Amino acid sequence: MTRPKIFVTRRIAESALEKIAAETDMELWPEDLPPAYDRIAEKAARADGLLTLLTDRIDAALMDGAPGLKVVSNLAVGYDNIDVPAATARGIVVGNTPGVLTETTADMAFALLMAAARRVVEGQAYTLQGRWKTWGPMVLLGQDIHGATLGIIGLGRIGAEMARRARGFGMRVLYHGPRRKSEALEKELGAAYVPELKDLLAASDFVSVHVPLTPATERLMGRAEFACMKKTAVFVNTARGGIVDQQALYEALRSGQIFAAGLDVTVIEPIPADDPLLTLDNAIVTPHIGSASFKTREKMALMAADNLLAGLRGDPPPHCVNPEALTRRRG
Ligand code: NAP
Repeated sequence: MTRPKIFVTRRIAESALEKIAAETDMELWPEDLPPAYDRIAEKAARADGLLTLLTDRIDAALMDGAPGLKVVSNLAVGYDNIDVPAATARGIVVGNTPGVLTETTADMAFALLMAAARRVVEGQAYTLQGRWKTWGPMVLLGQDIHGATLGIIGLGRIGAEMARRARGFGMRVLYHGPRRKSEALEKELGAAYVPELKDLLAASDFVSVHVPLTPATERLMGRAEFACMKKTAVFVNTARGGIVDQQALYEALRSGQIFAAGLDVTVIEPIPADDPLLTLDNAIVTPHIGSASFKTREKMALMAADNLLAGLRGDPPPHCVNPEALTRRRG
């Protein structure tokens, strides 16, 4: 029996590659930079399955050129790089890696929150530039975290973990989302629901975004939203860059409309070297490393391998965003 053909678009944890290679005819993209769209399309044309990263655009045209494709397994919880309705229509199941990266990503969001509030990166630059001449009573003053109010936009898996961390730091927690969560969860997290986003923004000292990028959340944070925030507020985004109007964020930071921002994601990734955000002392920009711990990346890779192999067998992937695709499989 011929083994299914798989294309893996970047080197991932060895344990996951071994698992995939044991059951398939696997080809691995060997380079550090991702394959261009056309290369993925070329490989997909002969593949039964793809293991993709969030840098890989998988659209309807690519799927149309891949008649044997049964599964696209994305090494991420977000899947905005994949046209899921198009995949479903073609009977292609799409897997993702929720849960295993939740706490690691919340750790990163909290790290950015603290670093931006307490000017950790500016402090490092100050030291390296030889500007540390004495202990200064007015040098690099920041915002207190304890006792402050955190506004969470999107109290899902990562948002809830953010709330837990905030409670540990003695913060008050508010959240906004499309619907109120259960009383039990609110009680456990000590989080209060704010139905209007603008009310949450006005009441918060810190705002952290944890929603998926969808047409409803694209540019959710624009000029009007930043204008609602306190001048002392810190904005954190570890979700997706497209949720923010980046020009409006730049202006809010530059004008002092808000105090600082910690961003793990940007509209264009990597952020262009001449992006004005990079000229600001009060913006910290990390290269989309929210889930980047040794343990978590291995768990994600193994989960993505399991999703891929299940999809190839015709079973629903354990973590599947469109299980209904199985009923539309091409013959
Ligand atoms: P999740 O559990 O699905 O949570 C998403 C939350 O967003 C849900 O609570 C949802 O509300 C809420 N939501 C949806 N639309 C909204 C809207 N228009 N306004 C306000 N809230 C809205 O997802 P997760 O696992 O926490 O992950 C969240 C996102 O983080 C992912 O989609 C991904 O893009 C990003 N992420 C980034 C990294 C990184 O490396 N930086 C790592 C992991 C994840 P309901 O529950 O009421 O539907």
